[in-house]
Amino acid sequence: MATRKAIVVGSGAAGLTAGWRLAQAGWQVELLGPEAQVGGLLAPQPVAGWPCDLGAHRLHAPALQVPAVAELAQRIPLEKRRRRGLVLVGGRSFNYPLRLTDLAQGLGLRGGGELLGSLVHARLSGRHWERQRAPEPQSDIGFGEFVRSRSGEAAYRAFYRPYADKVWGLDPAELSQSCAKQRVSSSAPWQLLWRPQRGEFLHPRGGFGAWMDGLAQLATQSGARVTLCQLSLQHGDLANLDADAVVHTGHLSAALTPDQQLAAQLDHRGLFLLWLVVADGQPGPVDTWYTPEAQFWFGRVSEVGNFLGHPHGRGRVLCVEIPQGRHAADRDFTGDLGELRRQLAQAKILSREAEVSEVVQRFLPAVYPLFRRGWLPRWRLALRHACASGRLWPAGRQGLWLHCNLDHAMASAEDAVRHVASGGASTQWPELAERWSEVRVRD
Ligand SMILES: Cc1cc2nc3c(=O)[nH]c(=O)nc-3n(C[C@H](O)[C@H](O)[C@H](O)COP(=O)(O)OP(=O)(O)OC[C@H]3O[C@@H](n4cnc5c(N)ncnc54)[C@H](O)[C@@H]3O)c2cc1C
Repeated sequence: MATRKAIVVGSGAAGLTAGWRLAQAGWQVELLGPEAQVGGLLAPQPVAGWPCDLGAHRLHAPALQVPAVAELAQRIPLEKRRRRGLVLVGGRSFNYPLRLTDLAQGLGLRGGGELLGSLVHARLSGRHWERQRAPEPQSDIGFGEFVRSRSGEAAYRAFYRPYADKVWGLDPAELSQSCAKQRVSSSAPWQLLWRPQRGEFLHPRGGFGAWMDGLAQLATQSGARVTLCQLSLQHGDLANLDADAVVHTGHLSAALTPDQQLAAQLDHRGLFLLWLVVADGQPGPVDTWYTPEAQFWFGRVSEVGNFLGHPHGRGRVLCVEIPQGRHAADRDFTGDLGELRRQLAQAKILSREAEVSEVVQRFLPAVYPLFRRGWLPRWRLALRHACASGRLWPAGRQGLWLHCNLDHAMASAEDAVRHVASGGASTQWPELAERWSEVRVRD
């Protein structure tokens, strides 16, 4: 039988995994990456000679259950790092993952009592974060109502509402309940009373960029050809690719016609990343600060040296993550450094006296899928359109328009390859791929 030819679009974790697995299955594989380097969201950003990840990236032990993750970790080991996160609420800091008992104590008699009371009330009302996990469109009551009924008014006001506004910049009533299930239900407040603390996380020496280089090597050693063509492929290009199968890990909307795109509403929100170099500083013990409150532009700040695990140079590099929310995509925060420094000092992350020798800003335009209420039937239809030719399989975070971790992105690519290799037509893929719409983001 003649060798079958596959084209993989996108050179992030999902695309590289798909290329590797297809080549191992005996396919002739060409992988097309639109950037100058592989890795997608896991490509490195060099800052002061440090290979910084694009925002705080880490893996947790369950990720090793994904075969591609485990095999890659054999080649480039994942090192254990001690976890030391802080959440800033009401002018105080609490260990992350958050323990509700600490929080209630820290907020004092009134605030803590109100918070615990609202959670107990919500619990007694019989609503549970895990109940009705299937995101049925008829019952999408929206983010605000979903969270309020499960965590109570006080917790909703303290964390969830400001968090939603910061990330999506939309009224929580317009957002789907899926945003709560997928992005915040792993930290359902009630569970925090007894959930064991995760004391460590996994990170590859040299950063995730080096890990992606290792994945690209596995793909090429298995016979895949990686072409970094710097081309963004759109609907017509994808339809005309000369291949028996196309695994598309670029944006799902690129696989749709303009009319289909309009109907599908596959919007995103972006993320501003700012790296601040403090040449004469030293990292403290904290790896990440979480700042859900509206007074801070940033939602998360990480100490890059504590992820890389060994000094790449002297000093400190902080990575400040500012969700796009209501900001314009071309906003330049480096022009507002005074205000950013004031906020970092207020959060006790960086003292006012510290000398910042370099600032780098980068905007990642489409990182958070914007699930509006009733998104599910639109998404199902979009997938069906994308797969209608019978030979195109969308996979990964962008291909499936998902909130997901990198191990989910890699596992969905392995899943798609299994289906391609079994001889199935991609018209059956939307039904199979639906299970990926249910994953929850681990932080
Ligand atoms: C700030 C942040 C922090 C995160 N932290 C974690 C974490 O701690 N742990 C974790 O497990 N996960 C984390 N993630 C998620 C993780 O980064 C992603 O799930 C994973 O990198 C997705 O890989 P992917 O290949 O599916 O997508 P991507 O990496 O986005 O790759 C998609 C590829 O397709 C290309 N492409 C897009 N459109 C087209 C087109 N039209 N034509 C051709 N090519 C196209 C892109 O350029 C890119 O090369 C985080 C994500 C973000 C944004």
